[in-house]
Amino acid sequence: MNVIESVAEMQRIALKAKGEGKRIALVPTMGYLHAGHASLMHEGRRRSDLLVTSIFVNPAQFGANEDLDKYPRDMERDMKIAREAGVDLIFAPQPVDMYPPEFQTWVDVERLSLPLCGASRPGHFRGVTTVVCKLFSIVQPTLALFGIKDYQQLAVIRRMTADLNLPVEIADMPIVREIDGLAMSSRNAYLSPENRIKALCLSRAIQSVLESYRGGERDVLVLDRNAREQIAAVKGAEIDYLEFRNGATLELQQQADDQTLLAMAIKIGTTRLIDNCILGEDR
Ligand code: AMP
Repeated sequence: MNVIESVAEMQRIALKAKGEGKRIALVPTMGYLHAGHASLMHEGRRRSDLLVTSIFVNPAQFGANEDLDKYPRDMERDMKIAREAGVDLIFAPQPVDMYPPEFQTWVDVERLSLPLCGASRPGHFRGVTTVVCKLFSIVQPTLALFGIKDYQQLAVIRRMTADLNLPVEIADMPIVREIDGLAMSSRNAYLSPENRIKALCLSRAIQSVLESYRGGERDVLVLDRNAREQIAAVKGAEIDYLEFRNGATLELQQQADDQTLLAMAIKIGTTRLIDNCILGEDR
């Protein structure tokens, strides 16, 4: 497994492989890999001849007061996890090579980027779509894999890929959780042991809403109260957003159905965690 820093070299290798008829799969990540990332890689391995994972903490998707500088990094460990998951190439460019001083072109998915994380983190999705579009252009994948953990990101990337006719299949993969239910995330590394326990309120809220939904409750006001109670029960947990929206359009819903998305961002101390579920889906 090789690590490539150079954008030009990565693109040269990709174009050559493509010319030889190889199927290239891409798993874009910000590194500090865990079993959630590895699940994407395993699926990518199964479905490609050349499996590339990018490790790039993308400055363009972080706001001014966010955690860009302290985002966890560990290249040695990442290389081990990627190698074990069958990755052929790690693409790890430098920010200045992805965004040289003269850089001025952005990809913006208008409506789907507005609510939820887009409202809490202005400019975030513009950074995501721009970097993913660049990665598609550099790595030339026929398949790119993303986690449902970042539900809105996946919706935005699907929209971009369709709107710009990018010749890439987008695959989505289920949320990988710790045994106690916490969705795996690189940001879980920020949690103190005490906050790690408090962080279980996210998956508890989801579980509680799912039970109520399966019991026949369809009124979003009731489901919403139910979820908020789970969060409120934990001292130091603060709701950034907790919303019920249509899983395809991301529009707000009053009546829940099988396609309804429950999405939340919760701050546990200073750590912001996200989680979600589709009410009609098994988990
Ligand atoms: P990140 O490094 O956080 O930008 O995530 C890279 C990719 O891994 C994204 O497509 C995420 O949705 C996906 N991912 C992150 N956490 C999980 C998880 N717990 N389960 C499945 N996929 C995940």
